[in-house]
Amino acid sequence: MKSLKGVKVFTSEVERAKKAAVLKVGSETIGAAREFLAEEGFVELLPVIVAPITDPLRHNTDRAVIEAYGGHWHLTRSMIFHKQAAVTVCERIFSFSPNIRIEPPDWGKTGRHLWEFVQLDLEVRDGTREELMDLGERLLVYVLERVRERCADELAFLGRNLRVPQRPFPVFTYGEARKRYGDDFEVALSREMETPFWIIDFPVDVREFYDREDPERPGVLLDYDLIYPEGYGEALSGGEREHLLHRIQERIARQGLDPSQYRGLLELAERGLPPSAGFGIGIERLIRYICGLPHVAEARLFPRVPGELSVV
Ligand code: ASP
Ligand code: MG
Repeated sequence: MKSLKGVKVFTSEVERAKKAAVLKVGSETIGAAREFLAEEGFVELLPVIVAPITDPLRHNTDRAVIEAYGGHWHLTRSMIFHKQAAVTVCERIFSFSPNIRIEPPDWGKTGRHLWEFVQLDLEVRDGTREELMDLGERLLVYVLERVRERCADELAFLGRNLRVPQRPFPVFTYGEARKRYGDDFEVALSREMETPFWIIDFPVDVREFYDREDPERPGVLLDYDLIYPEGYGEALSGGEREHLLHRIQERIARQGLDPSQYRGLLELAERGLPPSAGFGIGIERLIRYICGLPHVAEARLFPRVPGELSVV
């Protein structure tokens, strides 16, 4: 075995006290997000762990599939399609959704990846990009304010001086950001900025098929990523959705994917999916940012780091 990260947690008093502080901050972070969303009229769904369809995530080729009852079930890579289906029942939904993404082993060193993580995944029926960006900013500011109040001792112990940013956050288009900062624009901008900022208008071929192409500007998506300052990288990713059957079929074909893999989604769309928009916030990344931690693994008691083994 290469590394036993899981047991390191319990070795020294200082490590234990630090971990306890991080876990308390994490718990308050989750509580504050729940409070905010309840106040905004969201219904919390229990997460989907196994399903016949899941997020395509084209970069992530190592599939986690289990067999049961004569069928094949993906471990959830994201609840995207279940979110689209759920808003046919409730107007606004969220879930703390565990995701399994078997990322390349060297991604263990990015500081930003775990292969088991939790995202706060939400969706709004008839939601628009503008509304969801506004919601994302208010959610983040609310959580940061509450955690600063409720965890002042823990943050001081961790040496973190957490600033609450002013809204609205700056917005860059993908095109602008790339022209000014090159291919690694996200990292460069994240290091340079002192406040969270948005990147919008991703080109259609760099994202998954479910984010909606702007009917007015073919080739450009109605999506949005929120990036943390201080070099912490991506906070949230989301978009308006393709919900019409023929559009979903076109986008699947354009990406060279096998439509039979998405039969469940196509059946839902045939019966009628409402327009919607949403986003997912990586919880460990949020806790990492709030606490000022070098690696997302530190946000969890039993982290799953790409490329590393564990005994617990
Ligand atoms: N859950 C989605 C993802 O993991 C984010 C979104 O809602 O677009 O990509
Ligand atoms: Mg996505």
